[in-house]
Amino acid sequence: MNHQQLTNYINNLWDTSIIPTLIEYIKIPNKSPQFDADWESHGYMDEAVELIANWCREQAVNGMTLDVLQLKGRTPVIIMDIPGDNNKTVLLYGHLDKQPEMTGWSEGLGPWQPVIRGDRLYGRGAADDGYAAFASLTAIKALQEQNIPHARCVILIEASEESGSHDLPHYMDVLKEQIGTPDLVICLDSCCGNYEQLWTTTSLRGVLTATLSIDVLKEGVHSGAASGIVPSCFQILRQLLSRIESETTGEVLIKEMHVDIPKQRGEQAHLAAEVLGDAVFKDLPFHDTVNPREGTIADLILNRTWKPAISITGLSGVPSVENGGNVTLPSIKVKLSVRLPPTCDAEQAASALKTELETQPPYNANVRCDILDAASGWNAPAEAAWLNKAINEASMATFGKPAVSMGEGVSIPFMGMLGRKFPKAQFLITGVLGPEANAHGPNEFLHLPTVKKLTACVCHTLMAHSEDHYNP
Ligand SMILES: [Zn+2]
Repeated sequence: MNHQQLTNYINNLWDTSIIPTLIEYIKIPNKSPQFDADWESHGYMDEAVELIANWCREQAVNGMTLDVLQLKGRTPVIIMDIPGDNNKTVLLYGHLDKQPEMTGWSEGLGPWQPVIRGDRLYGRGAADDGYAAFASLTAIKALQEQNIPHARCVILIEASEESGSHDLPHYMDVLKEQIGTPDLVICLDSCCGNYEQLWTTTSLRGVLTATLSIDVLKEGVHSGAASGIVPSCFQILRQLLSRIESETTGEVLIKEMHVDIPKQRGEQAHLAAEVLGDAVFKDLPFHDTVNPREGTIADLILNRTWKPAISITGLSGVPSVENGGNVTLPSIKVKLSVRLPPTCDAEQAASALKTELETQPPYNANVRCDILDAASGWNAPAEAAWLNKAINEASMATFGKPAVSMGEGVSIPFMGMLGRKFPKAQFLITGVLGPEANAHGPNEFLHLPTVKKLTACVCHTLMAHSEDHYNP
């Protein structure tokens, strides 16, 4: 492979064609179904699918077929099938649905407002995960441009990832024959520790989302008349939360949510801690005086990758500060997002959470925990020697530094499904969500130099995969 030719080709395609298309993509508010109940009638998802599918069709990749499938009542998928030069199959995965707006965008930036500043393309969904389809197809195209053999490639782009990929198992059934048995899965929807080398993800946490409703009164009452007699919803909420999380250490108290950390993953966390140092917390937008949670850097990495953690992500039933009168509130409802260790069984964790919150509620209040979604995480199978070598060589050739492996705290529900479905497959899970990229939050951006280099790394990996003598 002529690396300079590869770099020029990839950079040029990004600059002249992909970035302008991603700018259009950012403008579409195609929120995942969990955040837009009327997504179907809004039509934004179709718009995003058309934009990406049309770009892919225009690339005229040798022998490629592209189909958009939509089962009734489900989000669509794009599937591309590119014939290969051997009998192996690679499955490349990404998604095109987006997280909701979120508040706190800086002056001049907004979720549906594409802005390029320096190396960064700001706006919702370019980095998570609109770029995946473009980068995957470009990597294959760049190989073909140099007549370098590659395996058959199936690119699957779904539209329910941010809602727990609930539609994907149905498509996997429909596409079972077509996809076949991939021996390599490439997923471009993950994180990177910095923008200086290739980061591969060796585990992902599971995620459990639930609502907790607390009702004490049939309607709100003057707090002068009711407080002191009626227990407040927040008093009950505090008690219930203390059952599941230590308010002093933040440790999750449900034993079904903890697992034994494999030795190799502990070692990788220590290595990653050496590379990252205190950037692990310094890259987060802390207020000046705020400290991270207790522990060494490696402890923090393991906290984020192999321990459960609870976030409260929504609250209903509470007036805004401007509208808050002196009223004892009748009910409140909070949304809980629980990250689970990679090997934790999400269903068991969900039922343990429900039991813990609903059993013997304080004051016999109406307390209900509804599970919205429970997806187990993923722990990579042992990496094949060829893949380790390929990843390192790719990182050296494109970034000039070796690759680093680390578990990630995020969830990609489909990887868990794939890991169980294709136990013999190797995985390259990587991505562009590095320092400050802030997917799901305000000021999300795509780091342009990194996404170009990552595209080249996918090329190197596909080439090495094709050359490897291992035969499925
Ligand atoms: Zn994503």
